[in-house]
Amino acid sequence: MKISMISEHASPLAALGGVDAGGQNVHVAALSEALAKRGHHVTVYTRRDATELPARVRVGRRLEVVHVDAGPACHVPKDELLPYMGELADGVARDWGHRPPDVVHGHFWMSGVAALDAARRPHQGYRVPVIQTFHALGTVKRRHQGAEDTSPLERRWLEPGVGRSADRIVATCSDEVFELKAMGITTGKISIAPCGVDLGFFSAEGPVAARKRTHRILSVGRLVPRKGVDLVIRALPYLREAGFEDVELLIVGGGGDSGALHADPEVRRLMDLATELGVSDQVSLQGQVSRGEMPGIFRSADAVVCAPWYEPFGIVPLEAMACGVPVVAAAVGGLRDTVVDHGTGLHVPPRDPEAIASALALLLEDPILRAELGSAGKKRARTRYSWDRVAAETEKAYQLAMAGAAAGIVPMEGAAL
Ligand code: UDP
Repeated sequence: MKISMISEHASPLAALGGVDAGGQNVHVAALSEALAKRGHHVTVYTRRDATELPARVRVGRRLEVVHVDAGPACHVPKDELLPYMGELADGVARDWGHRPPDVVHGHFWMSGVAALDAARRPHQGYRVPVIQTFHALGTVKRRHQGAEDTSPLERRWLEPGVGRSADRIVATCSDEVFELKAMGITTGKISIAPCGVDLGFFSAEGPVAARKRTHRILSVGRLVPRKGVDLVIRALPYLREAGFEDVELLIVGGGGDSGALHADPEVRRLMDLATELGVSDQVSLQGQVSRGEMPGIFRSADAVVCAPWYEPFGIVPLEAMACGVPVVAAAVGGLRDTVVDHGTGLHVPPRDPEAIASALALLLEDPILRAELGSAGKKRARTRYSWDRVAAETEKAYQLAMAGAAAGIVPMEGAAL
């Protein structure tokens, strides 16, 4: 199959841990690589966000990344990218010329807008089947972030429009299917394919990063308030009360686009909170960490905490599980699918630092429980979340979209698109 991926803000080649660079980048990179390994030809289109980037980067024999000129050639926050989607679609269509792909897969709603635009140009004489993965939904974001949501207003009608117009939707977890249904999208055209984890890379065997105290708790991710890292800091005083004083909380991620920690307002907010609670000596902020260092850091932890307010999928818990580390997870979104309560980790209610502390206390006092949950996590990651398996499931969604298009099944067009 000839596959085009569109990932407007999340380049598979970007450094991770900045405000807009995380799971989507990993997902697009690893899925594309796994599809290429299965024999498909994959081109990832992303927006040029630096002048020095080459037009095309060959990543593998059947995989390349194309930087499309769309808007200024510098970092632009993802919520300000909508005006450039027309240019992005033009660049993609130009690159296709008269040889369009078999399918185009949009990642995030704005890429969906560009994918539909490029795929349905009657004067070009083709109509390419469009598959859409949202990664995050505006309805969920608004519910949790309210006035703090910086998404453009147009997301309210364009995102459901993308959902209705796409030939097929790939949801990453079961929770997302309910949300999509509530947006008016027919469930018959939704497939579920989760995110995966690189099992050759994230494993329990290998170097272990040094730790400073008896126990280490780890938080990994983009430092944005909805990831709930402050809740983990708030759990530390409760843990102290429970008798766990020699505990280090290592926070990986953050540091703004330049990677400079002091420039990140969220870093300052978290450090101020730690100082206010009298736990600043237990908290280390590491900033953005390269992929190569991540497995050793995961292995050095007694537990990884993922305490987001909401989570469309969450690759970090999978990486922790693959490294044999138990996960304390807020029972929200994709985390309810990946982390099995009392199986591969412990579920806690969202936004509840005391519950996080109780779960951590259970784990820290019981090395046997940690080992059992860790080993079950490894098994679950291996059996369910290899990228090859995810790619095979995604491939089925592509085939369904192609078969539907060949049979002349035309999805209801979103009025606003
Ligand atoms: N990550 C990383 N270095 C960092 C911070 C994060 O490599 O400094 C990676 C992390 O290992 C994971 C991804 O970024 O692969 C975050 O993905 P997740 O789905 O958990 O969160 P999202 O960014 O999608 O909200």
